[in-house]
Amino acid sequence: MATIKLEIVSPDKMVYTNDISMLIVRSTGGELGILPHHAPLVTGLVPHAMRVRLGAGADRDEQLIAVAGGFMEVTPEKITVLATAAEKPIDIDINRAKEAMARAKARIAAFHQGTPESENIDIERAEFALRRSIARLRATGTSYDE
Ligand code: ATP
Repeated sequence: MATIKLEIVSPDKMVYTNDISMLIVRSTGGELGILPHHAPLVTGLVPHAMRVRLGAGADRDEQLIAVAGGFMEVTPEKITVLATAAEKPIDIDINRAKEAMARAKARIAAFHQGTPESENIDIERAEFALRRSIARLRATGTSYDE
């Protein structure tokens, strides 16, 4: 079975490395599936739960990794993800992600209500924080309100 090496690196550590059969990511240009021998590519990544496929057929397995953003470089032999932050599900603090989601949602709601305090809200920052929290909750299979 053909495999491709995957390395996911965050600023402080190597988060994940393995020989995988496919990686499904959300890039700034949309969803991409990367198979072994993919053409060279560099793209930005948005916050999401990456899907790492291992093996094939009956032995196929899928793992999720939360990524907060960053870049992905693909060569025919290797995928390198340089993430601003990335976590395996086991390393995700679900309550922290839920609290981050609640804070982001409250800021977004205040911004749209146009309260006097909302003038200081950076809406883009709040929306990215919401998307990071969603990525972490999805990677852990935790349900949340849209
Ligand atoms: P928070 O507001 O809770 O810090 P955030 O989305 O702003 O969330 P990031 O800036 O994406 O956090 O990440 C900062 C650091 O904290 C990174 O090292 C990241 O891996 C870690 N981190 C953030 N949220 C979680 C979480 N829920 N569980 C585990 N680690 C987390």
